[in-house]
Amino acid sequence: METIQHDITIVGAGVSSIFFAYTFMKNNKDARIHMIDIGKELDQRKCSLDNEERCECRGVCSKYAGFAGLGKSEGKFNYTNDFGGELHRKIGEEKALRLMEEVDEILCRFGGSAREKYSTQNEFLSTTAEIHGLNALSSEVRHLGTDLAQKIFQEMYEVMRERVSFTFETKVEAVRKLDDGYELHTNRGYFQSGLIVIGTGMSGSVWLKNMMGSFGIHPGETRLDMGYRVEMKGDQLQSILQDTFETKLKIERNDYVATTYCMNPRGRIIRKYQHGLVMPDGQNALEKETPSANLNFTLFVPQYFSSYEEAIAEAVNVIGGINGGEDRIVVQRLEDFRRHRKTETLSNNEVKPSLKAQCGNGRSEVPALYTGALLEFLDALEGLIGEEIHGDTLLYGLDAKFYEPKLYTDENFESELPGIYLIGDCSGVTHSLSQAAASGIHLGKHLGLK
Ligand SMILES: Cc1cc2nc3c(=O)[nH]c(=O)nc-3n(C[C@H](O)[C@H](O)[C@H](O)COP(=O)(O)OP(=O)(O)OC[C@H]3O[C@@H](n4cnc5c(N)ncnc54)[C@H](O)[C@@H]3O)c2cc1C
Repeated sequence: METIQHDITIVGAGVSSIFFAYTFMKNNKDARIHMIDIGKELDQRKCSLDNEERCECRGVCSKYAGFAGLGKSEGKFNYTNDFGGELHRKIGEEKALRLMEEVDEILCRFGGSAREKYSTQNEFLSTTAEIHGLNALSSEVRHLGTDLAQKIFQEMYEVMRERVSFTFETKVEAVRKLDDGYELHTNRGYFQSGLIVIGTGMSGSVWLKNMMGSFGIHPGETRLDMGYRVEMKGDQLQSILQDTFETKLKIERNDYVATTYCMNPRGRIIRKYQHGLVMPDGQNALEKETPSANLNFTLFVPQYFSSYEEAIAEAVNVIGGINGGEDRIVVQRLEDFRRHRKTETLSNNEVKPSLKAQCGNGRSEVPALYTGALLEFLDALEGLIGEEIHGDTLLYGLDAKFYEPKLYTDENFESELPGIYLIGDCSGVTHSLSQAAASGIHLGKHLGLK
């Protein structure tokens, strides 16, 4: 089999890789750049999960793999150091924010300005929240929506094709060290490369771990966030959402820190499938022609495990237990939750559920850490909004956000293997579109200007 040679090979064609390649090619006019992804080109990524039907993809699921990676989503870019990753800890607060501004400029160059950027900052809210034991986190946001996000990535693809050679539907299986670079072994042959940039996100975590392990390099700590998705009356948070479309609130106690995630005023709850688990996920009101009368968000509590396997095992134990080998999600009214009793029916419930879930006693199925955090948070929230949260509020069990185990990388994302760089979520440093993209720009400049 013929071996093809490149100067840089990018493994994964997700968000971080796209911003890396785009920046690199602007700064370096000569290098031969190659990008490999296990999934398909963007316009061929079709999965029946998009229509809320069962996935029938052959091989990897097109919803999650292929050009744009998990960027083929609602495309909500939060420009902040407060959440979405710890890029600022690696490169400094100011630089991280500046790179996120550059992410936004690039998005706008490709049509992103069709959606207004907004800020969730609110001085009055921050002060009042603090009085009630909460911290109001804020961010600049550009929320593209699925269609525009897809259009932007497609246009970036057309530009990149002039310089980058793409190989889709190809899995990088192994990497071998050569005297002057590396050899990538794929199911479609061998490729040689001077440098390798890996942006395989969450979906490539097992592969990455095994590949680095073959060089004797192992990851450590892994974070896992789990928590209830809450669906409440659409107007209950009106007093704190007057000037902003959404807010992000944090509660910190001795034994946990919990933060609201993905708040969707007038949105719906949909099913999310990851790692063989089924979870309640938020869908923005813009995704449907008729908005709902409710507001939903998840209250996530992060926990840290000594390995990726331990983190996944915990999620499988808790969420897999709720799923019961099928796609069961449990829903409970807040009043029933507070009284430790099962919810029997929702037929007369004032908050109409936007997701078909099974009534039950979620409280008895979920570890005390998450139920306790939710109760304390809702108490504090009642103080902040100055009224009781309606007893018909619905609590869905259980949402999760998975993180990469952390492999060591230096301030330029170079791993312990010289010439191999890890960007985006697979670095364990970023957990969001904006920070993954920013990490790509950072490395694109570093290598492109070398
Ligand atoms: C359902 C969902 C919704 C989200 N919504 C948002 C949001 O609105 N806002 C936000 O900020 N964040 C969101 N996130 C998180 C965000 O999508 C990620 O942080 C971001 O996409 C990470 O970018 P990345 O480049 O690291 O990886 P990805 O975008 O995941 O790309 C990784 C790519 O690598 C490829 N790959 C993996 N292994 C291999 C291999 N061995 N060989 C070849 N190719 C491989 C995959 O096919 C994929 O295309 C969401 C996450 C999920 C799961």
